[in-house]
Amino acid sequence: MSNISSGWTHLRGIEPLSLCDWPGRTSCVFFLGGCNLSCPTCHNFDMAWNMENLPLLSRRDMTTFLRDRARWLDGVTITGGEPTAVPGLGEILHEIRRISGLPIKMDSNGMLPDVLEDILRQKLADVFAIDVKGPYEKYPALTGRAVTAEAARRNLERVFALAEANPQAFYFRLTKVPILTDEDVETAKGYLPDGFELTIQNYIPPRREHAHADNEARRPVGNMVD
Ligand code: SF4
Repeated sequence: MSNISSGWTHLRGIEPLSLCDWPGRTSCVFFLGGCNLSCPTCHNFDMAWNMENLPLLSRRDMTTFLRDRARWLDGVTITGGEPTAVPGLGEILHEIRRISGLPIKMDSNGMLPDVLEDILRQKLADVFAIDVKGPYEKYPALTGRAVTAEAARRNLERVFALAEANPQAFYFRLTKVPILTDEDVETAKGYLPDGFELTIQNYIPPRREHAHADNEARRPVGNMVD
């Protein structure tokens, strides 16, 4: 069966064993290419914007891996790119669950809360690691002008409401990129609902020095979320 234009064409990488992507669990990591944002500090810009340059991992490769290795793992991490921007994400998650029986953790920038809510409602993932990138007013700069401050506020407030209703299923993290001040970090911490903590991650610079220039050149024009 052809998978052209399905979510399976976004399956562009695997890390067979990770001890750090899901704190407290050994997980494998599947990478889904493509992203709805254009963060100039992106650490994985080929996965986000040039997934066609990366080798495709076939559906069969994935299921064979899971059948062989699931017994040695505590979970499966889905990352990107941005998983919620992948069409057919639900089918991929369902297949991972069906084959492995393992809990699933998904990373997300939180800018597509409808998709997160749908995945949560269908119980297709167990845990969501959400990036809070900084103060809302810095989202245009933080996301390559892909998101307005108003959209960042609106989307994250929906995610926070989901987290309040499902506290076991969410955690939040912030990568302290160079444009963020200590005060910005405190502002972002203040957004979280009671009982949640913001995990601060060190910034890892992009692998190529000219990544920022490339990112600007590739930024889709006219797609700002507002
Ligand atoms: S949300 Fe930003 S940092 Fe994350 S993959 Fe997309 S462009 Fe890169």
